[in-house]
Amino acid sequence: MLARVRVPGGILSSQQALVLAEFAAKLGAVDLQVTNRSNIQLLLKSLDQADFAALQAVGLAAPIASVDRFRNIMASPTAGIDTQMLVDTRPLVKSIDSYISSNPHLIGLSDKFSVGIDGGEALSIGQRPNDILLLARPSGLRLMLRMSDGSAGSPTGQMLDTRLVWVLEQSVEVFATLSDLYLKHSGSIPPVFSKHRRSSKPRFRHLVEHWGLDWLRANCPGAELTRETVEMPQVGYQYLGVHSQLQSEYFYLGVVLPLGRLTLDQLRGLAEIAAVHGNSEIRLTPWQNIILPNLSAIQPVIGALERLGLSVNPKHSAGSIAACRGTVGCAAAVIDSQNHALAAIRQLTLTSPVQIHISGCDKGCAQPMPSDIALKGTSQGYEIYLHEPGTVFGRYLYPAMPADRALATVQKMLQVHQSLSPATSFRDFTDRHDLSTLLQFFHA
Ligand code: SF4
Repeated sequence: MLARVRVPGGILSSQQALVLAEFAAKLGAVDLQVTNRSNIQLLLKSLDQADFAALQAVGLAAPIASVDRFRNIMASPTAGIDTQMLVDTRPLVKSIDSYISSNPHLIGLSDKFSVGIDGGEALSIGQRPNDILLLARPSGLRLMLRMSDGSAGSPTGQMLDTRLVWVLEQSVEVFATLSDLYLKHSGSIPPVFSKHRRSSKPRFRHLVEHWGLDWLRANCPGAELTRETVEMPQVGYQYLGVHSQLQSEYFYLGVVLPLGRLTLDQLRGLAEIAAVHGNSEIRLTPWQNIILPNLSAIQPVIGALERLGLSVNPKHSAGSIAACRGTVGCAAAVIDSQNHALAAIRQLTLTSPVQIHISGCDKGCAQPMPSDIALKGTSQGYEIYLHEPGTVFGRYLYPAMPADRALATVQKMLQVHQSLSPATSFRDFTDRHDLSTLLQFFHA
């Protein structure tokens, strides 16, 4: 069975990591995977009440089992340590998670009722696909909603600024207001179909799209309607490797995990490194890598990571590639995206960080937002796409081709970028040209 362990805010303690490694080994898992919601996912042979209780005892499962299936509260992996942050979001995450964990009436929420809290960090999660985004600023908590882009169920809509602001201390009230609104009204809007035509529970945005923004505002009496404009968080910050922290005596290290995977020995080793050299924290990122914060010495940590087979090199190809489990672990898959991604990690040579997404079908679960390069799995092989905002996969560049040819094509595209425009990022290079010009470059 596939088990998902919620790690609120993605912050795992060394003690929790050791318990998790023991739990996984006992139940037959050989490795585990950091997910794109900063959870941990693992394949188990069995699970009983006593095993679940072991996770509950260290805060890795909700005290009320029925609400444990809800999505993780997402926060920046550099919450509280980021040099640009405006608000430390860790207490907000904790309060909302405690509310979820102790309120069984929330059982009626959609599994996809997802919340992210952005505290203005350089490593922003503002563009990650959360249905509900709370922008935490010193002046308050501002509600942004991810809207549909025309196809109901699409995860790639634009953000709607509701201009509703609560005081920071009201984070639980905000969550309670929105979840109660959902529970009260989600049954009375027309059915929602995913693009795969399956009827599913509505997302929060479907209620707002049905009744309108004024309806939402009228039902949020605790919020103030502000006239102030706000900048949407931008992405593109590079966090792998060594970085300064807000606390100037410390550094954090961004560590590459190939496809988010960790062996159990690596998890135990990370727990020890964090306990000896840091503050016993391992932070999981929604980009499926990890951060070790609060380090005062770097070289011993890099040496210890290398002995575990882990790299902190931002140009390591594994740091650039995201893939779902494909035919290895998903019934909807049409192609072995996981093993093709492992081949890509071995074969591709990067001279600068480039985001590459390899998907086992047209849903794009591993990276539900445009990457620099996307390979969409079909029954004929991979179609290749280039970055374009507001889509799952991007601009359609090449028709389906076998996996080995798709990887060779991607390598050629990377080489062309390096020879023509080494000073700009791959994304800037491709965004600047239309498709026919790019095809000419790639075939020259
Ligand atoms: S993208 Fe398709 S194959 Fe991959 S996990 Fe999602 S549904 Fe499964």
